[in-house]
Amino acid sequence: MNIDNNIFKNILNNKIKANIIYKDKYITAFDDINPKAPVHIILIPNIYIKNINHIDKSNIYLLGKMLLVSSKIAKFKNINKSGYRLIINCNKDAGQEINYLHIHIIGGKYLGNIICNCNKI
Ligand code: 5GP
Repeated sequence: MNIDNNIFKNILNNKIKANIIYKDKYITAFDDINPKAPVHIILIPNIYIKNINHIDKSNIYLLGKMLLVSSKIAKFKNINKSGYRLIINCNKDAGQEINYLHIHIIGGKYLGNIICNCNKI
């Protein structure tokens, strides 16, 4: 697939509209178009990485930043105390739909302790 047709890349380039809730030099976060919970945010790096299989040592700082910003967004959305889940899907069996590394930040309701069936969220 041509990267120019990638939905998240196009959100980054303002070619597709999204409700951006955070942006800095490294990271952009926006509301998921089809939220599975009251809070469902997608967080992406500003550089293209296909999925977690495609990271290397040079991405360690970026990945740390992504986790730090995820926790800050959770606090901003006031779900840090009630709880939330971070999900990174990779490839077909995990149901990765968009080939652009992203973290789902999901919360605002009880998610249960099931980690292997996201349909239950
Ligand atoms: P994945 O299954 O790849 O981990 O997650 C992709 C996510 O992207 C899904 O939760 C889906 O709802 C979301 N998504 C797909 N298309 C769009 C879009 O055009 N805009 C936004 N904001 N989210 C999208």
